[in-house]
Amino acid sequence: MSISLSKAGTGDNMDVETREGIMVIADIENGTLHRSTLELLGKARELADSRKTSVSVALAGNNVGELKQVLFEHGADRVYIMDCEELGTFDPATYKEAYISIIKEAKPEVILISATHRGRSIAPRIAAHLATGLTADCTDLYFDEKGNFIQVRPAYAGNIYAHILSRTKPAMSTVRPGVFKPIQRIPGRTGEAVVMPKTLCPRGALRTISKTHREIASITEAKVIITVGRGLRRKEDIELVKKLARIIGASVGATRPLVDMGWMPKENQVGYSGNIVKPRIYIGLGVSGSPMHVIGMKDSEIIVSVNKDPNAPIVNISDYAIIGDLYEFIEKLTKETERLKSKIS
Ligand SMILES: Cc1cc2nc3c(=O)[nH]c(=O)nc-3n(C[C@H](O)[C@H](O)[C@H](O)COP(=O)(O)OP(=O)(O)OC[C@H]3O[C@@H](n4cnc5c(N)ncnc54)[C@H](O)[C@@H]3O)c2cc1C
Repeated sequence: MSISLSKAGTGDNMDVETREGIMVIADIENGTLHRSTLELLGKARELADSRKTSVSVALAGNNVGELKQVLFEHGADRVYIMDCEELGTFDPATYKEAYISIIKEAKPEVILISATHRGRSIAPRIAAHLATGLTADCTDLYFDEKGNFIQVRPAYAGNIYAHILSRTKPAMSTVRPGVFKPIQRIPGRTGEAVVMPKTLCPRGALRTISKTHREIASITEAKVIITVGRGLRRKEDIELVKKLARIIGASVGATRPLVDMGWMPKENQVGYSGNIVKPRIYIGLGVSGSPMHVIGMKDSEIIVSVNKDPNAPIVNISDYAIIGDLYEFIEKLTKETERLKSKIS
């Protein structure tokens, strides 16, 4: 694997004012912190300690102030709280305004954002507003011996890792959930809470008319995932997989070709351009195990694969490889689980 060093940003906003510290933008889903925020905080803490600087968090939303304690206990030194009614519904344009106010106040050197759908929608907006560079989907971050902030991400279809130095400040990175680990919680750890004045609350542009619930649990949170690949013959057969998933309490993931064909939603894609997952059990049905897919699931605790081809790459990384037909596997596992469940109830 080779390494390249490239530079991000146009280099024309090297501001004269001093910027310091690492800021994490908190990602909030249904009033609770998305776990990726604590993962980013873990990395921010490590980076800040290596640079002898501080970690702050931008916490924006409605009735979110109470979340500050969790952030302190996971490594934040300072939490900037923008608590506004207008932030009750996630709207990237409104949230961007809130974060810009916080960033202007905090003047961080580095800003880390989760690559969730919320993070992905606000990060470029913030970067454009600040006229700064943004490196998406980083897999590692570090300060080099000269004190430069380096962002590492796969490039050229994952064949190399690019080490990117931003010429502009603040340097901004998005990181997918699951890449870093939170620090061990320190109960009772406190920090400074900076409550932003209500006069800075942005004007909301969206009104919620109704809310829908996702049919499938988020695969980044799932403990068990059944991922289907191109071995599946017809779109309708997804229902067989969903049924099995319901019975065994799994979420359903998909390889990119199935998403591209419109058989599964993008949010269920596993891999380089989808989600990074780390379930306790990953079951791949008719998945070949291309590098682009494996990058998103290789850290699963137990990998099970069902493939007709004994030479499929996924077989080599499987803890249990079943060489056979996925339809037969689905049918047998569904029947057997139903039989066992009926005995219990
Ligand atoms: C920039 C870029 C980004 C990408 N990002 C992603 C990504 O995020 N995620 C992703 O998954 N891919 C991604 N890809 C695509 C990736 O390179 C592969 O093409 C893809 O992962 C292959 O999907 P698959 O395993 O479903 O299909 P295939 O490679 O076609 O494999 C199908 C497998 O099913 C087996 N099979 C067939 N019938 C049966 C049966 N009845 N029972 C059991 N086994 C059977 C076959 O033996 C084969 O191994 C990306 C590609 C590019 C260029």
